[in-house]
Amino acid sequence: MITKLQGCVENQGDMKRRKPIVIPGDGDPCPRCGVQMQIREPDGIGDRQRRQRFFYTRWFCCMNKQCKTTLVMPARYKVANPVL
Ligand SMILES: [Zn+2]
Repeated sequence: MITKLQGCVENQGDMKRRKPIVIPGDGDPCPRCGVQMQIREPDGIGDRQRRQRFFYTRWFCCMNKQCKTTLVMPARYKVANPVL
């Protein structure tokens, strides 16, 4: 039996990656199930963000276990890397 783990999997397979911060409050409704999503922000800018031309300053995480959608990256939170 496969049970979906609580929460999202941003850090799966890379232990050195920083854990995102959970922001209190409700995010956008999930595009699939309509449940208000959890708000996440990166814990500072890590090496991963520095290597990318664009990164997200905030994203949403659907906590509904019945829902296949986990992470939602809205385009409005996509920013150009100021370092590159
Ligand atoms: Zn959902």
